[in-house]
Amino acid sequence: MQYQNKKFSDVSDDNFNKLNSLTLYKDTVAFEFKNGWTDLVYNLGKDIEDLCKLTNCELPLIQQIKEKFGTLRFYYNTLNSQYPQIVEKSIRALVFQAEIKSSNTCEICGKYGEIRVENRVYTTLCDEHKGNSMSKPLEPNELKALKGQEVWLIPLYNAKQRKIPLIEQITSDIIVKCGSKMFHLTNSGGYSFEEGYCNSNNYGYLPFRSKQDALDYLEIEEFLSKIKYENLSFLGIDEVRKIKEIIENKSQQNMQ
Ligand SMILES: [Zn+2]
Repeated sequence: MQYQNKKFSDVSDDNFNKLNSLTLYKDTVAFEFKNGWTDLVYNLGKDIEDLCKLTNCELPLIQQIKEKFGTLRFYYNTLNSQYPQIVEKSIRALVFQAEIKSSNTCEICGKYGEIRVENRVYTTLCDEHKGNSMSKPLEPNELKALKGQEVWLIPLYNAKQRKIPLIEQITSDIIVKCGSKMFHLTNSGGYSFEEGYCNSNNYGYLPFRSKQDALDYLEIEEFLSKIKYENLSFLGIDEVRKIKEIIENKSQQNMQ
């Protein structure tokens, strides 16, 4: 069994041994994620073990631990033992917390990261490991982790300034707090993630971790809306730039 689990795991031997040292995981499951999430998954397992020990409950059965669409999926069942409801709820909460945390933990190295996309594959990556992948606007859970830090914003539906190119309207602000639907900025008030809430100037913002991320997003989005081919957004930014170059060169040749 351990041989099979090792074969299907994506972590290094050291990390496999560390995870496999917990009774909860021992010889029961493969670790289908990369090294950067080792501590996250180890700490989750340790917390569940401690909780079961304190409450005198059997350990749940772990079915699968893997990465999917850039975040952690942790499947388990508690069917073969009678858990008090509070224990069941607590295990669920611990798992939920770890799954959320994976959305801002680089799967390669464990540093702060965000969910990025390249060739249709979603992965949570830090600045160092992001490579050729593209950023997407930050989501509530990602913004929560950035409380007190600077984010870069592309305004949406800005009626007053519609004539100024969006690229000149990218601003930065500090995240004060963030709920599941709204986020608050130091200088510009509160905004919703979706259309709906507005102050006098804007209906909302698309938030990004860096100015370059916002610029890349705008460049690709504007190009894609021009050629009306959304599927390209799954490519890396370099590929889309190459295609853009080819199309622009062709149209220049046609004009001559
Ligand atoms: Zn990294």
